[in-house]
Amino acid sequence: MSTVAFVNVALRGHINPTLPVVAELVRRGHTVTYHTTVAFEPDVAAAGATVHRYPGDGPPLAGPPTPVTLLEQLARTALETLPAVLADLRRARPDVVVHGAACPWGPVTAAELGVPAVSLFTTMAFGRRVPSPARASWTLLAEAVTRPRSLLGYVRARLLLARRHRTRGLPLVDLVNARQPLNLVFTSRAFQPEAASFDRTYRFVGPSVGARPHDPSFPFGLLRPPVLYVSLGTVFDAGPSALRAFAAALAPLGGTVVVATGHTDPAALGALPDNVLARRFVPQPELLERASLFVTHGGMNSVNEALYAGVPVLVVPQGADQPQVARRVTELGAGLTVRPEAATEAAVHALARRLLTEPRFREAAGALRTAQRQAGGHLRAADEIEALLRRTGPHEKREH
Ligand code: UDP
Repeated sequence: MSTVAFVNVALRGHINPTLPVVAELVRRGHTVTYHTTVAFEPDVAAAGATVHRYPGDGPPLAGPPTPVTLLEQLARTALETLPAVLADLRRARPDVVVHGAACPWGPVTAAELGVPAVSLFTTMAFGRRVPSPARASWTLLAEAVTRPRSLLGYVRARLLLARRHRTRGLPLVDLVNARQPLNLVFTSRAFQPEAASFDRTYRFVGPSVGARPHDPSFPFGLLRPPVLYVSLGTVFDAGPSALRAFAAALAPLGGTVVVATGHTDPAALGALPDNVLARRFVPQPELLERASLFVTHGGMNSVNEALYAGVPVLVVPQGADQPQVARRVTELGAGLTVRPEAATEAAVHALARRLLTEPRFREAAGALRTAQRQAGGHLRAADEIEALLRRTGPHEKREH
């Protein structure tokens, strides 16, 4: 049996798909360690991992960042967390490091320990034909010029990282796209744009949505069909007026409208129609099993989970990779997109009505449901990690 070290950024969208993989590896008899913050400790521990906390309960990934501030935060956080992560893992002596593709201290950890690494893509995979939002580009350069402090912070952190650590596996700029000899992408080949342009090191394992702990506080008994669900994820904050507009747009079309308000206090939405249920956080995959429509920001996990349940989506992309996800949803016919500034109550009502009444959207989402399930999910991800461990065999871990 092996020891598998998960090293990841402490954001829900990056952690959720890894939890069923952790649980499966533990079930198969492996020891799993996981570096995270106190907020995620209960979920990670419930999956069966030994939790290691980041020093100072870091990484301070306050969102939503712009590409340049994100790169600076990631490089600085790598610098701050690496000494503690390395000290923990030199004791744990893992056989493999499994890290988020957007977690730059993951590849450095693997290189320092001299063990193989696996990269996890909780977004879609990025490459030559699917440009990463943080790749070196004129747009990034133009933004960097307007944020000289972030740019300098980034350069300084990178220089220190290179001086102190083995950084060869780290992209020079695109820190959210760290590739390894094995890259597990948590969507299906059917959803991934330009899937054929990725080599064999990329495995499209599909959504990883193993059973989450049941949330007994959510009033499933109150839901009346059709259930229409709104969430703009856990990072971006749409604010009360946008959420209120969504609720008002959907209320006449729904049995029950559920609004997950995230950073916004549900009370800030004011009086809502009787059939609207507003909560900060809801058990999303369970709710999607009952939903007819999902209004989402287009976070990759949310779209994956919707398509896993065969639910058409209305995407209101806020930033990051969400415009790309939105484009792909529309291309595949499983939903529609509206820009946040155009998402008025009337526009959302009209688009939602189309999604509910034109059968082609549900049919396309249904076809993707099959593809998403056939991709194998967390069980296949665990198989791939075990296969890598067999290929690399017992190896000499670098002594320090
Ligand atoms: N989520 C949830 N309940 C909520 C809001 C979000 O369970 O009320 C989960 C959702 O199932 C998904 C993750 O949080 O797994 C959000 O990830 P995504 O990539 O969609 O968006 P992000 O929050 O990273 O922008």
